[in-house]
Amino acid sequence: MSGAHTRKLSAAESIRKFCVACMGGSYVLVSECAQTDCPLHAYRLGQAGEAARPPVRTIRRQCLACCCGNREQVRACAASPSCRAPFDPCPLWRFRLGSRPEIFERRRKKARRTLLTLPGLVIEKPANQEAS
Ligand code: SF4
Ligand code: SF4
Repeated sequence: MSGAHTRKLSAAESIRKFCVACMGGSYVLVSECAQTDCPLHAYRLGQAGEAARPPVRTIRRQCLACCCGNREQVRACAASPSCRAPFDPCPLWRFRLGSRPEIFERRRKKARRTLLTLPGLVIEKPANQEAS
């Protein structure tokens, strides 16, 4: 086992890798890609203009298209970096939920800690606090 550390790709780099795979490894075909309706098109060269939506949101769109709009299927996508045959790892997998995994996890932990309140919902005080 090698101790080499593999740097994780950014969202834009992951899109680039996905596009190169989509075009059978041809960088020329990626640059010539005419599929302007593909969600990844603006990022196929690795970066997009300032007007483009953020790359993680772009990946989310692509993943929803890949799974016919089914969010649960996107979440359950089996094409992780550690997947085995018959699956192949998908370069977009880390970002399929629409944010960087670290940020997604931080948000989820925060949501667990936050008490949800609904308009009109009255939370009664415990009996020992009413008499004071
Ligand atoms: S923009 Fe879409 S169709 Fe074009 S190379 Fe990338 S993934 Fe393939
Ligand atoms: S990460 Fe999964 S859902 Fe997203 S494009 Fe790749 S295979 Fe499809």
